Amino acid sequence: MTELITTSKKAIELEDQYGAHNYHPLPVVLTKGEGVFLWDVEGRRYYDFLSAYSAVNQGHCHPRIIHALIEQAKELTLTSRAFYNDKLGLAEKYVCETFGYQKALFMNSGAEANETAIKLARKWGYTKKGIPEYEAVIVALRKNFHGRTTTIISASSDPSARKGFGPFMPGFELVDYDNVPALEKALSNPKVCGLWIEPIQGEAGVYVPADGYLKAAEKLCRQYNVLLMMDEIQTGIARTGKMLASDHEGVRPDLLILGKALSGGVLPVSVVLADDDIMLVIKPGEHGSTFGGNPLAAAVCMEALQVVKDERLADNAERLGKIFRERMHALIKKTNLVTLVRGKGLLNAIVINDTPESLPAGQAGQTAWNICLKFAENGLLAKPTHGNIIRLAPPLVITEEQLHECCDIIEKSVLEFSKR
Ligand code: PLP
Repeated sequence: MTELITTSKKAIELEDQYGAHNYHPLPVVLTKGEGVFLWDVEGRRYYDFLSAYSAVNQGHCHPRIIHALIEQAKELTLTSRAFYNDKLGLAEKYVCETFGYQKALFMNSGAEANETAIKLARKWGYTKKGIPEYEAVIVALRKNFHGRTTTIISASSDPSARKGFGPFMPGFELVDYDNVPALEKALSNPKVCGLWIEPIQGEAGVYVPADGYLKAAEKLCRQYNVLLMMDEIQTGIARTGKMLASDHEGVRPDLLILGKALSGGVLPVSVVLADDDIMLVIKPGEHGSTFGGNPLAAAVCMEALQVVKDERLADNAERLGKIFRERMHALIKKTNLVTLVRGKGLLNAIVINDTPESLPAGQAGQTAWNICLKFAENGLLAKPTHGNIIRLAPPLVITEEQLHECCDIIEKSVLEFSKR
């Protein structure tokens, strides 16, 4: 039997003593979630404004998703891919039809899906584009975040993601985000097999590129025969007001990379989608994962996506996102502590007038961190991404009334802070 933890202090002490110190959490210990709300072990209720980094777009413990989880868990959870199971094909068909692709490859974490996309792009580069063996280059963007594996951090420009973890994987070239001429220069290299990009750079601080940038990137990929590898792990599944952030510009990636809210935050499920000419470059035995495509994940994923469609969460994110940014613009007029708000749908960030935006990940500006503590005191949970940038991303099931209440909390907290 596990011990019952009844105080925040005890839980924090335990994690501190027995857990690796690879995160710097806000000092809040959560025990229950429902919809847009979280409760701590002392019984305090909070609005969740992080949504587990956009993994719980459907809200915490969505009854339909939990029902699908329990029903499938009673039947079959894991077979490995040594055998077929009766749910994987259904889930593959479901995601292919939902996103308009011919093939799907399920994995677990977002990082694994990105690793899968890298392997597909490289193999395609050698077998279809004719790049000389092991000379393929993937172009990535400065300030990207695609996960934490040693290959993925090899393409990172963030010192805190890299320092001490080399040697690094070769074959990546970095260019500035939102700079079309720089992109063209990089993609014109005939050894480039893929452009690996986030439609909005979430972890970096919700950087939204100029309108037309993604369309230009797609056009350049076509022109230079390069695969467009779109990491929609954080931006996908209705978060930005459309099913995919790429949809805002009518862009169709060659490799679509999804994770997080694909399971509504219930268990790790990720997927890469592509058409046959790309996906079938990988042959039996060349890639896989024991848990990838397990029947439990398959059942949960189908229900989680159906909830997004049935509850029209993209429309809600689009509509409420506009209201949210209007409220933040009004706040900016009342204080010089918040300098700007940016974002799309319900993926937004405010920038605090404090330490520079460019502090590495994990190193929050002191004021941004203290404002988040104040938010928590007033019943709302959020965290700085980089430096002085606070990401604000509630579950997409939030109502207009609740959103206004949250904007009131944000405003009250910031103004209380400004008075000091
Ligand atoms: N890609 C993007 C855009 C992300 O935001 C994240 C996580 O925040 C990842 C990849 C990594 O996903 P995971 O933590 O599931 O490996």
